[in-house]
Amino acid sequence: MNSNALLKNRAYINGEWISADNGRTFAVTNPADNSEITQVPSLGAAETRRAIEQAEIAFRSWRKYTAQERSNLLRRWYELIMANQEELAQLLSLEQGKPLAESRGEIVYGASFIEWFAEEAKRVYGDVIPAPAPDRRFVVIKQPIGVVAAITPWNFPNAMITRKCAPAMAAGCTVVIKPAPDTPLSALALAALADEAGIPPGVFNVLPTDDAVTVGGELTGNPLVRKLSFTGSTAVGKLLMGQCASTVKKISLELGGNAPFLVFDDADIDAAVAGALASKYRNSGQTCVCTNRFLVQEKVYDEFAEKLAKAVAALQVGPALTSDSQQGPLINQAAVDKVQQHVDDAVAKGARLMTGGQLHELGGTFYQPTILADVTADMRIACEETFGPVAPLFRFKTEQEAIDLANDTPFGLAAYFYARDIGRVWRVAEALETGMVGINEGIISTAVAPFGGVKESGIGREGSRYGLDEFIEMKYLCMGGL
Ligand code: ADP
Repeated sequence: MNSNALLKNRAYINGEWISADNGRTFAVTNPADNSEITQVPSLGAAETRRAIEQAEIAFRSWRKYTAQERSNLLRRWYELIMANQEELAQLLSLEQGKPLAESRGEIVYGASFIEWFAEEAKRVYGDVIPAPAPDRRFVVIKQPIGVVAAITPWNFPNAMITRKCAPAMAAGCTVVIKPAPDTPLSALALAALADEAGIPPGVFNVLPTDDAVTVGGELTGNPLVRKLSFTGSTAVGKLLMGQCASTVKKISLELGGNAPFLVFDDADIDAAVAGALASKYRNSGQTCVCTNRFLVQEKVYDEFAEKLAKAVAALQVGPALTSDSQQGPLINQAAVDKVQQHVDDAVAKGARLMTGGQLHELGGTFYQPTILADVTADMRIACEETFGPVAPLFRFKTEQEAIDLANDTPFGLAAYFYARDIGRVWRVAEALETGMVGINEGIISTAVAPFGGVKESGIGREGSRYGLDEFIEMKYLCMGGL
């Protein structure tokens, strides 16, 4: 057993550490070598129902705390996370595989949502509307929506939880979280620190399970849950959206992306290469805002391709806890298989391998950082999210062609482009059908800006002052007879 004091192997419901009713557990493994880290309970429908009921009871009092009181508790939680940054990062790398430097970054990033919403908690303002009749007064008040269910993925085991729970809790909601089965330990560690911070029982609950269908069914079907916030694949998002229909829950969905990265001939190519590296190879390509397609104008295509290939070939691949590692293993074998299929399909249809293209010599789920040149629209990699360290390079001639190619996808999460001409910058930024655009920037996520997608990439925004709206209902009060 690992000696990390924040490693918890029980579920956390209503302030208590519990086992599954039937005693079932499942293994959490280290993706670097597939070794078992620990076993955690696999909860079912009955425990989920109880957690929801307890969260509903906790909601009745939590909503009555003053905004300042909720803010103080969130602030305390934030401070404890920052004080335990190293332990949290170690645990995250252990169960998820990303290099320690990236895990440390995720803990700070995750905590920043708690800090931000601890402050925003105090700024949930209502409205007074001039009434159309002299004997009436119109007022809009804002109220927390109720019990929130959060279903989160493995690629950001800490930050995807804080990004949902901090605004929910700041607004006065209580939350029931189902973390990904690959990475429940980061969620449970957050629960331990929430407990230590004095967050009242029932406000923050963590339900590990390897039976997502059963727990997800209860979370989406139970009428006490008033809101679902989900981050994950588009297929599961659509399924959950359907399941929420019977009780008309509010939903926020952060789904898949197919981010284009456009390099125009007036771009600063060195800056574009640096941005490309950051946007594509972070978390070994396993983020929903990672670039999936590089579209490069023909005049700068060769220069960009060669410089990027050189930088990518120099990336250090290795286990997360090795200090110089820049690329960890992929999360599991299925992820490796998908990456390999995309590469093989592209090569079979005429793409050119510039570097990588196969399993890394370390074996397991380590994959070589890869670049494919001469990629075309008929290849799978052009329209499916790869979620791995593969950069496909497409060629374009005109600005309009680049915009059309970029938008030719059902997804619309992030896009990036490099150009210096100010007219082009505005035209392209406005024409891209995505929720976020990085302009001469490869990393755009921050707690202070609205994160989210359009089209099949999702509904709603996380972070920023807009993030609170997702957990608030407005109520219109019409006062007559004055
Ligand atoms: P990924 O491909 O990144 O694992 P998923 O959408 O499968 O994305 O998983 C994201 C989250 O959704 C995880 O917590 C997973 O357990 C959960 N999940 C997957 N299928 C279901 C389902 N049918 N009902 C509820 N949750 C689900």
